[in-house]
Amino acid sequence: MTPLGEQLRARIRAEGAIPVAEFMALALSHPEHGYYRGRDPLGRGGDFITAPEISQMFGELIGLWCSVVWRSMGAPDPVILCELGPGRGTLMADLLRAAALDVAFRRALRVHLVEISPALRNRQAATLADARPIWHDDLATLPAGPLLAVGNEFFDALPIRQFVRRAGAWRERVVDLADNGFAFVDGPSVEIAAPPAKEGDLFERGDAACVLAERLGARIADRPGAALVIDYGHTATAPGETLQAVARHASADVLADPGTADLTAHVDFQALANAALPARAWGPVNQGAFLRGLGIELRAERLMLANPECAASIEAGCRRLIDAAEMGTLFKVMAISHPSLPAPPGFED
Ligand code: SAH
Repeated sequence: MTPLGEQLRARIRAEGAIPVAEFMALALSHPEHGYYRGRDPLGRGGDFITAPEISQMFGELIGLWCSVVWRSMGAPDPVILCELGPGRGTLMADLLRAAALDVAFRRALRVHLVEISPALRNRQAATLADARPIWHDDLATLPAGPLLAVGNEFFDALPIRQFVRRAGAWRERVVDLADNGFAFVDGPSVEIAAPPAKEGDLFERGDAACVLAERLGARIADRPGAALVIDYGHTATAPGETLQAVARHASADVLADPGTADLTAHVDFQALANAALPARAWGPVNQGAFLRGLGIELRAERLMLANPECAASIEAGCRRLIDAAEMGTLFKVMAISHPSLPAPPGFED
């Protein structure tokens, strides 16, 4: 058992079972032992790989997206560019390189990063030194003003509550002690708004993600602004279990060794869109369609012509991002924007 596991066991012994959301929050962000507090989880030697780590084109196209949206906002200078959970800083570095094609846009950008991991903050500081970013623990400390926000694989890392349908009512799922570890058990019954469900169905609610979407939406509706959320998830609120653990590129046990595996849950885009009101939500559209709409295939061709020795890996990266069997349909893209703004690139239909 990990040190965090021992702490959690002692706490449950003393105080009783804890909600899944609390288990997830502590496993990921416990100040000392949380998964995101220690290591750099990304890349081949880590636990998982993300779109910006697969291809530079991902961040570049998002940079172009931002510059078009910024022009539609009336080109405010300065404008806050905030990335939520920037990982190694790769997406932001690629974004800023593409943004520099529009000199006025690049000059207007003030880079802010919301990041809890000290290890990743160090990595971001090295990658993004020239951009002189400012770090935040959460959105609350972001300065006022027009905002462009981007979050790739960020919302899936926020704690979810789980409910289970029993005898016509919902019970909150909690984590209790079992033998040498933990087990899920049915907790107290609760009144919640949820879609129709059958006996034994599980329903997940991303309260933390919704609180964040609400804050983003309120800001964006107040001042011109827009946010781009990219994540795996579902278009409409529905029952189902998606909480999962990943370590070393393989699926792991959610409850075993808390703090050593990444815990994520699918994002409920419908719930995010509702939370973001009165800002307007666009999509979600599939990542493959979104990137194709922004011209990823043309960009790949250009890169291959300029770097023939890397053609195979450029092509493979492109396919991995957009093919339906890879990340193309599992991952979805939603935009949130001020109600006066036109459809952002990639959301025109
Ligand atoms: N966007 C990056 C990394 C995704 S991993 C990429 O696509 O490669 C999730 C990121 O969110 C990491 O940087 C992690 O440290 C950060 N993170 C996770 N939970 C967080 C929280 N509650 N607050 C702030 N950052 C968080």
